[in-house]
Amino acid sequence: MFSHPLHVGRPGIGNRAAFLRRVEQILDSRWLTNDGQMVRELERRIAQYIGVRHCVALASGTTALEVAARALDLSGEVIVPSWTFAATAHALYWQGITPVFADIDSETHNLSPQAVRRKITPRTTGIVGVHLWGRPAPVDALQAIADEYGLKLMFDAAHAFGNTCKGRGIGNFGACEVFSFHATKAFSTIEGGAIATNDDDLAERARSMRNFGFRNADGAVCVGINGKMSEIHAAFGLTSLESLNEVIAVNQANYRDYADALGNVPGVALLPHDARERSNFQYVVIEIREDPKAPPRANRDEILTALHRHNVLARPYFWPGVHAMRPYRDLFPHADRDLPNTIEVAARILVLPTGADIDRKTIARIAAIIRNPHVRAPARAHLGGSPENRVPIPPPQPFRTKETLLHEQY
Ligand SMILES: *Cc1c(COP(=O)(O)O)cnc(C)c1O
Repeated sequence: MFSHPLHVGRPGIGNRAAFLRRVEQILDSRWLTNDGQMVRELERRIAQYIGVRHCVALASGTTALEVAARALDLSGEVIVPSWTFAATAHALYWQGITPVFADIDSETHNLSPQAVRRKITPRTTGIVGVHLWGRPAPVDALQAIADEYGLKLMFDAAHAFGNTCKGRGIGNFGACEVFSFHATKAFSTIEGGAIATNDDDLAERARSMRNFGFRNADGAVCVGINGKMSEIHAAFGLTSLESLNEVIAVNQANYRDYADALGNVPGVALLPHDARERSNFQYVVIEIREDPKAPPRANRDEILTALHRHNVLARPYFWPGVHAMRPYRDLFPHADRDLPNTIEVAARILVLPTGADIDRKTIARIAAIIRNPHVRAPARAHLGGSPENRVPIPPPQPFRTKETLLHEQY
């Protein structure tokens, strides 16, 4: 149906001329990295945009998660959802912390506070919540658990840049929150991330840790890494920030068009956003469920195969759940016993293309495939003509395996 592949999200590049002007400025200044003007300005503008005291820019979201976990002194066991991108767990395990997977609520897709409670042991030091699809995690319930047990609480807010929870900017919850500014996210520095916090000491520790543990001219005051964001990346970020509202407006319009086009398809539900909150509409997520009142229809995998056959590269994010990926499935072979909602949700989810390449007409055609996935893509042979110019129907793309999923994530 489409001659060019439609991706879940193609990176925006913002105003090219504005970016190149900033690059010229950087080259002229000969200040390429190490807390330069661009990084400082980006941190200031992001903190203002979110309404938080501190924004500490880092080289990637994953580095930011690692530095945040260190700065909070997490150790032993930390409770995380399995229904997230692998980096949430990797950032902990990479530094010798055991991620303990807790189940989600099957409606919100976010950590279930009751499930978190059940995973607390004497070794637990913290909880990492995730605002999945940008929809806020149950921040108050998780904070209450953290307070009750003396645990640190932080959030992986990689999906939630610019979003709000009860009218307050995401970035203000827990001890700190971590953003990813990877090229595929709503707001991008190409590669990059940040820690947002209202805790002055925590921000100071994170700043030292991203720069070899150095503080001012005193040399190292703690162990650190090189997790700095370069001036060029910050310049890209400043430029993207200037067009963020347009990006969000396009995604919001796409979301509404999907809602119209899929509103009456039995067994297909578009994940809702709370209209009272600000959202970046970065992900268009549908759930494909059996409707007991309707005749049996195609399942998620059949719809996914049909979409791919038509060049619509929908993704079953975050199938099959981090607990089912290596090394965790070898380390915790029975984790799935306590993750029934994760497993159920993983089997019925699809993330659909959005962004500036997608418009209302495209969405109507994508919806038509979802409505009727058994209609084959028209090969030219079907339009008549001699056997010589017949184009064979390509076989359906192989379904992603657990092993390739990790590498194909972006
Ligand atoms: C993208 C993402 C990350 C990783 O961020 P990078 O900037 O790519 O390192 C972490 N957690 C979640 C939930 C993500 O979606």
